[in-house]
Amino acid sequence: MASYDVIVIGSGPGGYVAAIRCAQLGLKTACVEGRETLGGTCLNVGCIPSKALLHASHMLHEAEHNFAKMGLNAKLPTVDWSQMQTYKAYTIEGNTKGIEFLFKKNKIDWLKGWGSIPEAGVVKVGNERHQAKNIIIASGSTPSSLPGIEIDEKTVVSSTGALSLAKIPKKLVVIGAGVIGLELGSVYARLGSDVTVVEFLNAITPGMDAEVQKTFQRILKKQGLKFIMGAAVSSVEKLKTKAKVNYTLRKDDSAHQIDADTVLVATGRKPFTDGLGLADIGIEISERGQIKTDSHWQTNISGIYAIGDAIDGPMLAHKAEDEGMAAAEVIAGKHGHVNYDVIPGVIYTHPEVANVGQTEAQLKEQGRAYKVGKFNFMGNGRAKANFAGDGFVKLLADAQTDRILGAHIIGPSAGDLIHEICVAMEFGASAEDLALICHAHPTYSEAVREAALACGDGAIHA
Ligand SMILES: Cc1cc2nc3c(=O)[nH]c(=O)nc-3n(C[C@H](O)[C@H](O)[C@H](O)COP(=O)(O)OP(=O)(O)OC[C@H]3O[C@@H](n4cnc5c(N)ncnc54)[C@H](O)[C@@H]3O)c2cc1C
Repeated sequence: MASYDVIVIGSGPGGYVAAIRCAQLGLKTACVEGRETLGGTCLNVGCIPSKALLHASHMLHEAEHNFAKMGLNAKLPTVDWSQMQTYKAYTIEGNTKGIEFLFKKNKIDWLKGWGSIPEAGVVKVGNERHQAKNIIIASGSTPSSLPGIEIDEKTVVSSTGALSLAKIPKKLVVIGAGVIGLELGSVYARLGSDVTVVEFLNAITPGMDAEVQKTFQRILKKQGLKFIMGAAVSSVEKLKTKAKVNYTLRKDDSAHQIDADTVLVATGRKPFTDGLGLADIGIEISERGQIKTDSHWQTNISGIYAIGDAIDGPMLAHKAEDEGMAAAEVIAGKHGHVNYDVIPGVIYTHPEVANVGQTEAQLKEQGRAYKVGKFNFMGNGRAKANFAGDGFVKLLADAQTDRILGAHIIGPSAGDLIHEICVAMEFGASAEDLALICHAHPTYSEAVREAALACGDGAIHA
């Protein structure tokens, strides 16, 4: 039995970041992880492997569609799926080993195995009981399915199975047009699969800016993805090596069926708290299975905190990381800061999609007067040179004060561009503040400035 100031349960982006910050703040820290490797969903079966496949398949897309236009004439690359999987595994390993190195550097003990909390102040791993003045639960999330659909991770897969398919499917049906479904759908469409996305709602990426949704769907269609919208999937029938997806169109209740070699169920994720023993010690859980916390990430039991996908809020790695740092700081007697109004969201397709702050629909609902500054990437020299003129930057600012309220970008490097606006929002900047800042030419970031100018006297290149 060992004794710690803090034991973190789970080593995903929430847990490992919390552990490192605790150690940096002088707290004796351990982190419990049941997987073979550190890094959680994000590094092992989430953000990192999906981005590796997106990168590789985007390179193929560039070779197929843009190389010849630039005078680069060569035989088109062929896909070696097994080598692509090796590249993905190598990327994962580099990242998970990196966390192991950081744990050693910060003298954090990795308690290997699945942890539970038999009582406040105690964490049990296997047969070992460890004392902990504070416990941070960062147990993350797991894919959720629909009634009538059984995931076997071979023919009917979650995102985890979709990252490691035995072969590239001829026909892939993706259930759910959210971030994960569209990212992985894009990967396989670029690799040659016939991809159909079946979505319950009438728009893709629910909750996003309506104009971005339309543009995004148009671009994805151009890239070969097919969409069946307003369709409620009722069941998936598994045959020997294939599957049939049954769905009803909501507009007329008509029943339909679509065949697939592989079905990806991308209908969301749910908090994972199995085996922790939370009910036995009386930790409050919401109806959606999320651990309830106060504004300092403390549960209803003193000394037990929870962060990341296991609690309320967007299921994003950087949100989990922010909470990890903040909870560690609270435990160390500091302030701990997360601004939930300025958490960017990014979709790593090509083009990328990124947003932060409010949408027009939300502002209308609040009855808040706002102005829109929009700039198309077609007016950006760098984007045009790089065949990346599709898309736009849309900035929303308060009609009276000019304060930036939100931004919605679809276009090249949107996931990087969004941070300039996050910084501006964090400092309470106006659109004019952003417009007055010199932006290097030629960069995609000039489109952000032009959108800010469009909130005032007008963009220059529009
Ligand atoms: C395919 C995919 C792509 C994604 N892409 C992105 C992206 O690009 N950007 C982004 O921001 N987010 C992305 N996400 C979401 C992101 O992965 C999660 O939001 C993030 O991992 C949450 O971090 P976490 O620390 O809360 O939990 P997790 O990363 O889920 O980690 C929790 C860890 O806790 C461990 N654990 C749980 N219970 C116990 C226990 N009792 N004992 C010991 N260990 C335990 C688990 O084994 C796991 O390793 C993606 C997710 C998926 C599935």
